[in-house]
Amino acid sequence: MAMLDKIVIANRGEIALRILRACRELGIKTVAVHSTADASLKHVLLADESVCIGPPASKDSYLNMPAIISAAEVTDSVAIHPGYGFLSENADFAERVEKSGFTWIGPKSETIRLMGDKVSAINVMKKAGVPCVPGSGGPLGDDPDENLRVARQIGYPVIIKAAGGGGGRGMRVVHAEGALLHSIALTKAEALAAFANGQVYMEKFLEKPRHIEFQILADHHGNVVSLGERDCSMQRRHQKVIEEAPAPGISQAVRDKMNERVVQACRDVGYRSAGTLEFLYQDGEFYFIEMNTRIQVEHPVTELVTGIDLVKAQLMIAAGEKLPYKQSDIEMRGHAIECRINAEDARTFMPSPGPVRLWHAPGGPGVRVDSHVYSGYNVPPFYDSMIGKLIAHGDTRETAIARMRNALAELVVEGIKTNTALHQEILAHAAFAQGGLDIHYLERRLGLK
Ligand code: ADP
Repeated sequence: MAMLDKIVIANRGEIALRILRACRELGIKTVAVHSTADASLKHVLLADESVCIGPPASKDSYLNMPAIISAAEVTDSVAIHPGYGFLSENADFAERVEKSGFTWIGPKSETIRLMGDKVSAINVMKKAGVPCVPGSGGPLGDDPDENLRVARQIGYPVIIKAAGGGGGRGMRVVHAEGALLHSIALTKAEALAAFANGQVYMEKFLEKPRHIEFQILADHHGNVVSLGERDCSMQRRHQKVIEEAPAPGISQAVRDKMNERVVQACRDVGYRSAGTLEFLYQDGEFYFIEMNTRIQVEHPVTELVTGIDLVKAQLMIAAGEKLPYKQSDIEMRGHAIECRINAEDARTFMPSPGPVRLWHAPGGPGVRVDSHVYSGYNVPPFYDSMIGKLIAHGDTRETAIARMRNALAELVVEGIKTNTALHQEILAHAAFAQGGLDIHYLERRLGLK
């Protein structure tokens, strides 16, 4: 089997460790690149080689393109895995990596560019016959009358979204006409400052949707498979807190139909590597909102129900291998749930970095822990507060929930605060046990709405 010889892991934390583990299994040598604040990260200690690429601030290290490419050069690496976040959806970086003669472990840079602009992504999907949220169908111009007309036609409430937005930022809901023009101006200004792209578009704001997304894998030989869906409706500030697979209440017939549609859309754009098509789901209808052209935080729930290692698949695809399975081989078995463990106060959500005095991870049947934390590790204050993920799998959703509740009870973290109590509270609630909650449920329950 053709394989990559040595790769640079251009990320940190749990996903860097996850990539390292996949490389080890495949006999790929690893280079960890890290900031000065991250020399004691678990994957840095375990990697074959490590290179310090800059000071703590992300813009000087994990977003420092020349430093990462130089690290690949000096270590004779052949490829770069970007993980999620940081430069993972930066088409310019992917292009520079390719032009420097390295393999980018992800789709082609032009595909990242096409999908990274949400307006062009929506247009691609529409052409492929994928249903989208009713909306402006393109970027909003400067004519106030025209914008008022578009909103009236869509019907309030509407949501103004940045074409280049991500991470739950660059969105504003408008409930009545009086606030429309001001909201467009504000979102434009914010989008320009945050994403260097002032384009915004308008969509119908769905009042009670669920967030359901489809995971796909595509190789360089035209083979595309869909690994089914995940439900990521448990969100706070448009950010996911708990994810599960499959989505409660989605029948195999509906899944088959959506699998077919997303596979066709990926074929149409010549997609390759792992990718996710995100949808809102309301009243039995799916509406495409965006595509993520990278591995996602919540990928383990799909791995546990399908038995397919998504990171290994990314590496094999990048090496030119053919997908070893057809759509008819893909089966979802049982149910899996993931809880994101953050270093933060469970009530106020204030970040809580600092030294972890004691870390004791849960275990037992059907429990997986993806975390870089160990006793004595110091959570730096410079990055995302997620310190790991607990993932539980079982024959049924009930078993997965019971196992997750055990896992949360067994997890011991001393020295810093975590959001474990919030997860316990959500999992203990009867509404969660029933499944199928909408994306606003958690904030309503927290009294934030
Ligand atoms: P990002 O790239 O920042 O993740 P998305 O377009 O994926 O942005 O939207 C993130 C979240 O925002 C969704 O999961 C959903 O909770 C909310 N959202 C986005 N568009 C709409 C909409 N049209 N109606 C209601 N909620 C929406």
